[in-house]
Formats: sequence, structure tokens, C-alpha cells
Amino acid sequence: MSLAASLDELSLNNSFAALPPDFYTRLEPQGLTAPRLLHANEDAAALLGLDPRALGSEAFLRVFAGLDPLPGGATLAAVYSGHQFGVWAGQLGDGRAHLLGEVRGPQGNWELQLKGAGLTPYSRMGDGRAVLRSSVREYLASEAMHGLGIPTTRALALVVSDDPVIRETVETAAIVTRMAPSFVRFGSFEHWASRRQPELLRQLADYVIDNYYPACRTAGEGAAPYLSLLREVIGRTARLMAQWQHVGFCHGVMNTDNMSILGLTLDYGPYGFMDAFRLDHVCNHSDNQGRYAWNRQPSVALWNLYRLGGALNVLIGDVDAVKAELEAFEPQFTTAFHDGMAAKLGIGSWRVDDEALLDGLLKLMHDQRADFTLTFRHLSDALLGQTQPFLDLYMDRDAAAAWLQQWSARQDDLGGDREARALAMNRINPLYVLRNHLAENAIRAAKQGDTSVLVELLRILRNPFDVHAGAEIYASLPPDWASDLEVSCSS
Ligand code: AMP
Ligand code: MG
Repeated sequence: MSLAASLDELSLNNSFAALPPDFYTRLEPQGLTAPRLLHANEDAAALLGLDPRALGSEAFLRVFAGLDPLPGGATLAAVYSGHQFGVWAGQLGDGRAHLLGEVRGPQGNWELQLKGAGLTPYSRMGDGRAVLRSSVREYLASEAMHGLGIPTTRALALVVSDDPVIRETVETAAIVTRMAPSFVRFGSFEHWASRRQPELLRQLADYVIDNYYPACRTAGEGAAPYLSLLREVIGRTARLMAQWQHVGFCHGVMNTDNMSILGLTLDYGPYGFMDAFRLDHVCNHSDNQGRYAWNRQPSVALWNLYRLGGALNVLIGDVDAVKAELEAFEPQFTTAFHDGMAAKLGIGSWRVDDEALLDGLLKLMHDQRADFTLTFRHLSDALLGQTQPFLDLYMDRDAAAAWLQQWSARQDDLGGDREARALAMNRINPLYVLRNHLAENAIRAAKQGDTSVLVELLRILRNPFDVHAGAEIYASLPPDWASDLEVSCSS
């Protein structure tokens, strides 16, 4: 398949727009004034089959600044509902997102969505805008997650303007263009269940099955495909939670409207990759109750899946069958979590007594606020006899050394080629993650029109497992000034 030289050569599918108008509102975005392209993502363009040379064109800038429609697209804002912080919030919807259309890419279809292109019927009290700060954070995070091998929405373009946007202070507007096969959320299903409109709920479920889970269609007659859909979403969500836990990622706002039906990491707001580890770390300054703390993410995901299960049960009509599916979440999460942790610890396959070994490490990290990423990364050094980098992360070195002893004993049981095992550990324990202060550095430079930090960060985070020469600063502990950084729902 040859590359499209420009946006109007792309092939569009627009399957969501082919659903009845109950699911969305067709509208025009409100573009940015005098927009500038801060960054465009060649990797994402390749997924669309778009020639990277098209990214520098005026036509590209105008579409992703919200000034021109996507050729062949159908712009709309989708409706959904959801539970926010455990409370039913009723109707929400794309309050500042515009779906431009769905592109047929060489390996699959991608929906393109502007975030921050103005008011929609679902904006409620919001202004429909997004600020540069949060847009840079979303852009970086989605590419960082992809680099880590974690399912996520992607980012195609980041466009900025001097248009003022009022948050705690006056900031400037930006639009990030996101890509995903679908942006349907758990809350999209809750919406029709709560409205007691089972036919629209069925239509949505059929749409999701036919386009994204075709194997569920063959599960049988009647309710079977819907039960099968729930089973698949439970499995994907369980694996996603394990992957988040493995890299010390906190989403920050795990409301049901931010939970992807495809098991993608969706809606980056006040997220965080942990520096100093705390089991109950809360990355979102607005989350006073700690509902979305790191160690609560898997159980919150299950809570959210119960809401999805409740909605789908309108079609399934068998509470016991739904419950039985939901009960599979915990063992699936635990298996994925243990398998990944065994790989991170370099201990082959998980044994029952490894629980104590892992708990010992997490407790040690928690008590001493040790760095999450470097703790795991330096285990491969320790495996090859270099214990110093690991021990240097701990104030109480005796306690850290005692844990290393237990881990070494486990290593002795394994035997085998330590070099090969250390290499394998470095393929799963990243050296670089998107630490808050790194994102902040990229934001501060971008505000001055300097994208060099953003570009360098993207380069490193796309390949976070290999050592990048001269990039020591990107693997370092946060500097003192970073302890004041706070991220909140303000975006
Ligand atoms: P979130 O939890 O941040 O993903 O957003 C919750 C809801 O608020 C969604 O329906 C968003 O579309 C909407 N929303 C968030 N920020 C804004 C904004 N600045 N303008 C309009 N709607 C917004
Ligand atoms: Mg959201």
C-alpha cells in the first residue's frame, strides 16, 4: 500500500458516524487563532498510512488546529455517562473532544479526535479548551506508554496558540490529536442502561462487537455475544492493570467514563509515574480520599467493570452469569501481575513463596521511599554482582542488603546464565519513564517555543529499555525543585 501524500488521499471509514444520531452530535470544531504546530508524530502518521512529509503542510496544521474538517471525515462529539469518584454523575460526553473521522490505515482503522477544539453540547460548565501544559503531558504520556508496550491511545499532533485559557492562572490553548481504534468507554454503555433504552444499548454493543471483538459474535445466540464481550473486556482490563502496576503508573482519574472498552490507557490527566515509591501513592492532587491510589487501581478497575457488567446485564439478563465473569478478574489480574513481576525480578516463573519476596521488596521500597523505576532496573546490575547502584537507592542499606540476600538465594535456585537473565530483565524494567519533572521541563521549554526537550524526551521514551548515551539526566532521581510539582484535574 502506498503512502498518502496528503490528508485528502487518506481512506475514511467513519463507522461511528454511521450509528444513529442518538450516539453523538454532529458539529464543527472551534479552531485556534494563529495556530502553530508544536509537534507531529511520524510513528502515528505511519499507522494512518500518511507520508511523514504531509505533517509539515499548511493543510495538516489547519485540520489539527480545528480550522478545517478532515477531508472525507464526519466531525462529531459523542455522548456518554459515568461514575466519577464512585458517584453516578449522569450524562457527560465529549465536552472538549471532536471526533474527526475514522481512517483506514495499513494495519487497521484509527479514529482521529481533537481534544480542546471548543464547546460541544456536552461541555457542561467547561470551556471546551485544553491548555498547553496538559496537552504536552497527554502527548508525551501516550507515546511513553506505547514505548513501554502498554496499550494506549496514541497522539498524532500537538498544535498551540496564544489564545488565552483561564484555569488557576491564565494559560494558553492547545489541541492534541489523539488516535485510537475506538474511544468508546464503559460510560458509553452505562449511558443507555441508565436511560432505560435497551435497543440503543444493544446497538452500541453490537457495534463494538462487530468492529472490535468479532470473535464474540461466534460465541452463540442471544445474550452469548454480550457475555463474551464482557469477558474480553475483563481480560484486557485485568492485563492493563497489571501493566500499569509493573511500571509504577497511576492514572489519577479512573472514573468509568475514562475506562476504554478496548482496554487502552485513556484520558491522560493528572497521571503520574512514581518516583519515590509509596504503596498508596496518589498522583492526583484533587483526589483527597485517595480513591485512585496506586495500590487501589486493580480493585477500582473491578469496581468499574461491575458498572459495565450491570449495564450489559440489561442485554444479558443473567446476574449470576455476569457475576461469574466478574469473578474471573481477580485471578486474571493476579496471574498477569505475578508473571510480570517474576520477569521484573528475573526469577523465572512465579512460585507461591515469591509473594513474600515481592512483598518484602515493596515494603522496603515503601518504607524508604525508594525510586520505583531504578529499584527494578538496578536489580540486573545486582544480578551481575554490582549491588551498589541498588543499595544507593536506600537509606537503610542493611535492610536493603538483607532483601538482596533473599533474592540472591532465589537466584541461586535458578542457576542458568546470569548474563542472559540480566539482559532479559533490562527488556522489561525500563531505565527511563516519564517522570513528572521531565514532563515539566518539556512544558516549560515548549512555553518558550523551544521543542528540543519534548523531542529528546520522545526519542528516549520511545525506547525506554536501551541505555541512551548522554541521557543520564533522563534516568535520574527528580531534582529538589520537583518536590513542589502538583498535578490536579485542572487541564
Ligand atoms: P475527565 O474526567 O477529565 O476525563 O472529564 C470528565 C468530563 O468533563 C468529560 O465529559 C469531559 O469531556 C469534560 N471536560 C473536562 N474538561 C473540560 C473542559 N475544559 N471543557 C468542557 N468539558 C470538559
Ligand atoms: Mg475523560
